[in-house]
Amino acid sequence: MSRDPEGLCGAVLERLGSGVLVVDVQLVVRYLNPWLAAALGPLAEGLQGRCLAEALPELADGRLLGAVRQALDASLPSVLSPGLNRRPLPLYGEAAGGVARPLAQSVQVQPLSLSGERFCLVTVADVSAMMRREGLLREQAQRLSSLSLTDELTGIPNRRRLNQFLEAELPRAQRAAAPLAVILLDIDHFKAYNDTLGHIAGDACLVEVVDALVAQVRHPGDLLARYGGEEFCVVLGGQGADQAAVAAERLRACVESLRLPHPDSSVGPHVTISLGAAVLEAGRRSSATALLLKADRALFEAKQGGRNRWVVQGKTDSM
Ligand code: GH3
Ligand code: MG
Ligand code: MG
Repeated sequence: MSRDPEGLCGAVLERLGSGVLVVDVQLVVRYLNPWLAAALGPLAEGLQGRCLAEALPELADGRLLGAVRQALDASLPSVLSPGLNRRPLPLYGEAAGGVARPLAQSVQVQPLSLSGERFCLVTVADVSAMMRREGLLREQAQRLSSLSLTDELTGIPNRRRLNQFLEAELPRAQRAAAPLAVILLDIDHFKAYNDTLGHIAGDACLVEVVDALVAQVRHPGDLLARYGGEEFCVVLGGQGADQAAVAAERLRACVESLRLPHPDSSVGPHVTISLGAAVLEAGRRSSATALLLKADRALFEAKQGGRNRWVVQGKTDSM
């Protein structure tokens, strides 16, 4: 019984939506199907019957010729994945507007033995659409991940990002025996601000305060995050207690100097903040939770002390 009684396989190869190439042991092209010929364009002219390496000298730099030789000499099949070998063959497809578009390819190379003669079969699939889809999905995943770490109202990192940052930076500081400061800051009498001026004015105030703080936290190793509600956290890499006190005073003064009217504050006529800082001293160990707890206690002291002031563990605002 014939294996292809009506020439079915030949007809299929002629209509196939992917490329098929057969070369013999001399690397002479014995067959290429119409899909591959179309994708090769002018390079396909006269290719059948010629040595692949001579007809397409650009293949010399790529992985394909090596894979074909391996299939012919050692009967070893291989797959050239699009991630590592984006374009093993110089193939083009038509994009919108008739412009030629390079094809991303997935290529399989396989030894063949037919009637005692050795060949190599190369099959090529156009994976451009799949690569584009993967790129879009990657971008989307990055966008989502960045959204999940950003505070919606103010656009600065949120508490989740703060936790991630501290989880990475604390061990790094400990390994390097470097100090690290954590400052918690809280808007004074913000409930009264909302109660008198409304929640929308409260939101606008939060954004203005954050814009001022952002301008103060510019060092690449530092982070300003929304800790929750009207509380924010500043992490200062490499900074000890003295520098944390200087930074806290700078932050306090920058909010005060905005002179945002506060109609119902015991501190004065403008919006102010109180700050509490804790420091991981050089060469010491601490957890993020312990540091935040200490900073929160210092913040409580600053509130108790009259607000619009800072407390750094052990040091007190001299105002
Ligand atoms: P203290 O000086 O002791 O910090 O007093 P406070 O009034 O600022 O503190 P309290 O914790 O009593 O109130 C915080 C207020 O912050 C209450 C809440 O409505 C407001 N708040 C928290 N998050 C937001 C927000 O996203 N937008 C607005 N507008 N208000 C917020
Ligand atoms: Mg407050
Ligand atoms: Mg608060």
